[in-house]
Amino acid sequence: MTVLHELKNTNIMDQEIAELIIGHEKVAHVQAANPLDHALLILIKSGYTAVPVLDMHYRVQGQISKAQVLDTILGTERIEMDKLHEHTVESVMSEKVPKMNVDDNFGKALTLSINHPFVCIEDDEGAFVGLITRRAILVMVHREFQSD
Ligand code: AMP
Repeated sequence: MTVLHELKNTNIMDQEIAELIIGHEKVAHVQAANPLDHALLILIKSGYTAVPVLDMHYRVQGQISKAQVLDTILGTERIEMDKLHEHTVESVMSEKVPKMNVDDNFGKALTLSINHPFVCIEDDEGAFVGLITRRAILVMVHREFQSD
C-alpha cells in the first residue's frame, strides 16, 4: 500500500484546519493599489518569497513575489530601481492564488499545497482569515505518520 493510499484511509483528511492557520494579524501583505517600492520593502523586510495581496475590504486579490517585482524593473543593463514607483502591485501580481474556506478540511489544504507554498484562508464573507503554509501541512502529516 502506498503512502497516498494510507492517507486516504485515515481521518486526517477530515480534520479541521483552524490550528494550522497563521492569523491575518501576523501575515505580511500588500494592497493592490500600493506602488511596487512598498511591495519590495515588505517582501525584503518580511524575508518571504511572496506575500498575499488584499483589497481595502481585506479580500484576497492575488499574490506578489520578489521575482515578479524584480522582473518588472529589469532593464537591459541594470535593475532600474527608480522605476519601482511607476508600477502598482495590481499591474504585476498574479491573480492565481490558492484559497479555501476556514471550514474546509485538511484534505483540501493538502491538495492545494502540492503546487503552492501557502494557501489563503477566507471566512464565509470572503474576508481574509490568514494563511496555511505547506510547512505546517507537512508537520501535521509527519506527526500523524511518525512511528514513535
Ligand atoms: P514557510 O513554509 O514558513 O517558508 O512559508 C511558505 C511561504 O508562505 C512563504 O514563502 C511566504 O510566501 C508565505 N508566508 C508564510 N508565513 C507568512 C507570513 N507571516 N506573512 C506572509 N507570508 C507568509
